[in-house]
Amino acid sequence: MSLLKLFVILSISGLFLVVGYGIFINLFDFLEINVTPLPFCPEISPLTVGIQPVKWQIQTWYSMMENQTELQPGGHYTPQNCKSRHRVAIIVPYRNRNAHLRIFLNNIHPFLQRQQLDYRIFIIQQLKTGPFNRGMLMNIGFTEAQRIYNFTCFIFHDVDLIPENDKNPYNCVDSPRHLSVAVDVFKYQLPFKNIFGGAIAMQADQFKSVNGFSNQFFGWGGEDDDLFNRVNKKMMSIFRYSEEISRYTMIKHVKQYPNPSRFKILKESNYEVDGLNSLNYKLDLIEERNLFTLVAVDLKPA
Ligand code: UDP
Ligand code: MN
Repeated sequence: MSLLKLFVILSISGLFLVVGYGIFINLFDFLEINVTPLPFCPEISPLTVGIQPVKWQIQTWYSMMENQTELQPGGHYTPQNCKSRHRVAIIVPYRNRNAHLRIFLNNIHPFLQRQQLDYRIFIIQQLKTGPFNRGMLMNIGFTEAQRIYNFTCFIFHDVDLIPENDKNPYNCVDSPRHLSVAVDVFKYQLPFKNIFGGAIAMQADQFKSVNGFSNQFFGWGGEDDDLFNRVNKKMMSIFRYSEEISRYTMIKHVKQYPNPSRFKILKESNYEVDGLNSLNYKLDLIEERNLFTLVAVDLKPA
């Protein structure tokens, strides 16, 4: 064999080797085969910094989206370098508060990412006019989120509450948790001991054991006190972190007209028959937007 022939044969087989190797590696990537599994994220995230000022500027949807390069469709995030210890669904009841929603998203996404959470934000929108039903929207959010993913923790969160301290962990513990302990409008103090509104966190089993929120509270007030009673009836206690950690700013808004029947409904409430097991709604749309998963519904009284 001439030297030239040998050279050609060697070059061709070398080329095959390189291309073959390339295909092999790409196949791994394509099939998303993890050669080395990610380690768990640390118990306490090294990325948190403490109290941060609220970002008040109302940005366009486009610029918010551009700032969130690591976000997956539907407002879903997972840390890239470690496996999160928590799979958290953030459930936000919503109607006609566009400016609040933008401020909320612009603040909450970086906040949650600094905590290295595997999370998704659900906006549960009540489409029709008529009294708003916060409790029912929370139940719908829980139900729809469970269809999508095996979440370990559910955070039921008003759209106008901005957490100030990223040391406030957005995860669940062995007791239902009240998150919004110290809100600026209440001079950063707990206004009363049994308060269970604003932002709370519950594991799926805790929420199921109380049959979720009552569906009976149309208009402002009562559903949060009722959830407190449910948790109490199930002999669970409510857990709170310190006021220093649990600090929130509430975006200012006009006070809703309180439901005058709320005390009567509260008194007559029966968690066994009113809640997740009596929930009735029409799902108009579930859609993965860039910054959140939208669940738009019509409510039907049970
Ligand atoms: N909400 C809404 N649109 C409304 C009424 C209420 O989106 O028209 C949602 C929103 O998430 C809000 C929460 O329900 O933060 C609680 O209502 P609101 O803030 O009026 O209650 P308050 O702060 O007076 O307790
Ligand atoms: Mn509010």
